[in-house]
Amino acid sequence: FDRNPNEPEFHQAVDEVYETVEAVLKKNPKYQKAKLFERMTEPERLISFRVTWVDDKGEVQINKGYRVQMNSAIGPYKGGLRFHPTVTPSVLKFLAFEQIFKNALTGLPMGGGKGGSDFDPKGKSDAEIMRFCQAFMTELSRHIGHRLDVPAGDIGVGGREIGYMFGQYKKIQNEFTGVLTGKGQGWGGSLIRPEATGYGLVYFAQNMLAEQNDSLKGKVCLISGSGNVAQYAMKKLCILGAKPVTCSDSSGYIYDEDGITQEKIEFIMKLKNEKRGRISEYAKKFKSAKYFDTDRKADHNPLWAHKADCAFPCATQNEINKKDAANLIKAGVKLLAEGANMPTMSDAIVELMKGGVNYAPGKASNAGGVGTSGLEMVQNYSGIYWTREEVDSKLKEIMKEIHDSCLKAAKEYGMEGNYQAGANIAGFVKVADAMLAQGIV
Ligand code: NDP
Repeated sequence: FDRNPNEPEFHQAVDEVYETVEAVLKKNPKYQKAKLFERMTEPERLISFRVTWVDDKGEVQINKGYRVQMNSAIGPYKGGLRFHPTVTPSVLKFLAFEQIFKNALTGLPMGGGKGGSDFDPKGKSDAEIMRFCQAFMTELSRHIGHRLDVPAGDIGVGGREIGYMFGQYKKIQNEFTGVLTGKGQGWGGSLIRPEATGYGLVYFAQNMLAEQNDSLKGKVCLISGSGNVAQYAMKKLCILGAKPVTCSDSSGYIYDEDGITQEKIEFIMKLKNEKRGRISEYAKKFKSAKYFDTDRKADHNPLWAHKADCAFPCATQNEINKKDAANLIKAGVKLLAEGANMPTMSDAIVELMKGGVNYAPGKASNAGGVGTSGLEMVQNYSGIYWTREEVDSKLKEIMKEIHDSCLKAAKEYGMEGNYQAGANIAGFVKVADAMLAQGIV
């Protein structure tokens, strides 16, 4: 930790993984001797650059841009780009670190990376977004490539931003390759990629429940966020007969006792993806819903205190603290699967597990997005494109395999049923073995 001062999110992610892989290190001195865990915590390369662009008023704007190339032991660096004012090297290093294990769990040959900028897309015009994306890619294009590093979307980076960045990359490099995933379907994108993280999350929860001879039918679900992951998680929950009752954005959340139906999700998609509006609009449109403003001084988020069976945090990191965890238990929640990356704080995870909640960490339960990005890369390399049904069935298979490999690894190390330990161990062993085979480099 002395090597990385002032990086709380990164420390949190490393700590959490270390606590569960310690047992593996003890059992396998070869990993310890080669200092594999320590090596995994140091990015292979961290690129930081200036992004200069001109806003609609003609004023020059300056932002910070980054790409963290964390680990390439099992394949090219792969991980999203995040545009949000809270982006720092610590946040990106935590995300890139998590991505190493997540990508390993998918069974596809992808290394770990992450990148982004402290640029805030909120309130920017379409022309400003385009100029920013072009300026960002002008520098990033020197450091990525379809066999080297393949970024994707994340918070603040959806299909529109991927399009603008892809256009700029193509212009600079004079080549049409699958250098980004999440592309449009007419120009190299994979069917089901937009749906993949949310759908995959719900498939994972389905597998967890099936393990206990249960299903999602009739389950009341709390969701946070209303972006890409939350939208498709809610959609799949509805399809499978569950009832989502909450969703949120950074300004507040809505609670709809009647359930957020598919029709209401269509409204949210238009509101968020086209009009770039606020979730408070939902409560104006649907009278069954109540809207609650975010109270930044509160010591908990009331969203997690509504009566429910399952919870799916799909907004951002550290959105569930210990008090929220206690509220979730009181509210009757028996399953929590993370759609976002590291949404649950470490002491909250302990609280949930003590309270008997079946907990799935994001690196396992939200891996459907990167898994399908991997499928997009395969389609780009081969030039052969699969149907919606083919990709969806491969996504289901990936989520089932991740689920089963978590349980298998946990059992092997005496932590039966612990998805957190299983995900960390299975991901770690795969990458550690590859690093060991490739020598001290
Ligand atoms: P989006 O930008 O589409 O949506 C993010 C949502 O979370 C928005 O509703 C946003 O509200 C809310 N949010 C963001 N930051 C905060 C904050 N600091 N406090 C409260 N609410 C916030 O992003 P995604 O849906 O793509 O990503 C959500 C999470 O899922 C992230 O943790 C991401 O890393 C993770 N993830 C995403 C994958 C993907 O394929 N997209 C893959 C795997 C993980 P507002 O509009 O007000 O900002």
